[in-house]
Amino acid sequence: MSDETDAKPALASLPAFFKLAGRRCVVAGGSDGAGWKAELLASAGASVEVYAGEPCERLERLAADEPAVTLHRRAWTKADLDGALIAIVDAASDAEAADFRAAAQGAGAIVNVVDRPAFCDFQFGSIVNRSPLVVGISTDGAAPVFGQALRARIETLTPEGFAAWARAAQEWRKDIAARDLPFRARRKFWEAFAALAFERPDLAPTDADLQGLLAAVSDEAVEAARRGRVVLIGAGPGDPELLTLKAVRALQSADVVLYDDLVSPGVLDFARREADKLDVGKRGYRPSPGQPGITARLVEFALAGKVVARLKGGDPVIFGRATEEIEALQAAGVDVEIIPGVTAASGAAASLRASLTERDLARRVQYVTAHGRDGALPEDMDWRALADPGATTVVYMGVRTMPALVARLQAAGLDAQTPAILVERASWPGERRIAGTLATIAEMTARCAPTGPCILLLGAALSGAAARLQGAD
Ligand code: SAH
Repeated sequence: MSDETDAKPALASLPAFFKLAGRRCVVAGGSDGAGWKAELLASAGASVEVYAGEPCERLERLAADEPAVTLHRRAWTKADLDGALIAIVDAASDAEAADFRAAAQGAGAIVNVVDRPAFCDFQFGSIVNRSPLVVGISTDGAAPVFGQALRARIETLTPEGFAAWARAAQEWRKDIAARDLPFRARRKFWEAFAALAFERPDLAPTDADLQGLLAAVSDEAVEAARRGRVVLIGAGPGDPELLTLKAVRALQSADVVLYDDLVSPGVLDFARREADKLDVGKRGYRPSPGQPGITARLVEFALAGKVVARLKGGDPVIFGRATEEIEALQAAGVDVEIIPGVTAASGAAASLRASLTERDLARRVQYVTAHGRDGALPEDMDWRALADPGATTVVYMGVRTMPALVARLQAAGLDAQTPAILVERASWPGERRIAGTLATIAEMTARCAPTGPCILLLGAALSGAAARLQGAD
């Protein structure tokens, strides 16, 4: 039990959702702000009367395109407010705002005055529209931009496909009611409906889903036996803002999250609070489950009916040993989905404000790892390709073997002056960038003694970025 008191904090304003179909609403004023409100009312089905001596372009267009909007090319009068449910004005002064408000309230309307909260009976919030599902956000006028920022967050968490799910719910509602199910069964149906919507937001529900959900209601065991699955998610190079929307949504619906070392804590914050979060990092210096152990756990969780998020740094299909996990899961009959991520090379290039391709300098990009099975530089690398002066080369896991790598590249004919940049912790706080040449980069790296993940970028396309970094020294 918490020791909080029972007193509820006061509600600054009441969120209520109005049905406006065919209702008379008045908008006074010719500004863009007035136009925007008129548009909003019309999109909610209102019959909108606009009074504006000098209507802006938006209003002209709206009146031309939208039969429910009538534009009267004159200033508003008291009589115009008769029968209005909602009255909105973009007033030129406080005096006009006060007159309008008195007239509108006299006619029984509720009032909004654009940008003058003191005269408002109600305010428009920020909207997330997945009609018939609608989310409104209000800060009671305190900080609209804060409200918009929150709206952006909620947008990302509310799949577009929810509109189709909400429409299906509207259609199915009658059908469900007609079945005369006991309250608990009905509730269970809608819970299962919501769970399915979260699981498969982008696939519009079908009649088969309806039948499936009804079957689940009548047979509790069906739900328990629901098959788990695994989503391999690219966590990006570090900055959580670089997650894809799909990754965020998948994290929100996972029961278990298995993550690597390179996944930043900010990324994990997107997982549900109740989800189990397991660190399965594979650092050499401390015990870790090892790849076979990780794969076995993925299979085990999925077979137990869990939705498992397997978070891997960067993109899961680039030096992520994804094949082993995918094959083991498929062999065990577990569904696997892959959500791509921003690979470290892209993250580093973005930090450097550099393009990895350049029409005449770099027609090719190659991602290589300089870390063989035994930790040494792999012998069987394609040295000719790596020494191609017309390519940009990005080296993953290349710190330990860098001296050997640069020696081999020079021996293979790559110019010692080729620009070389090391980025440590790309996109993380504490990111470091070291610019040099093929001849100097290994020694510069050793001097900096990096402790975070590092990526090496080589090639003529990086000359601009290298010069900028060296100029900043
Ligand atoms: N799947 C990952 C790569 C995994 S291999 C991806 O697509 O990025 C691990 C190597 O990736 C590290 O040794 C390092 O070379 C590189 N790496 C990952 N994150 C990095 C980061 N934020 N900054 C620099 N290098 C990074």
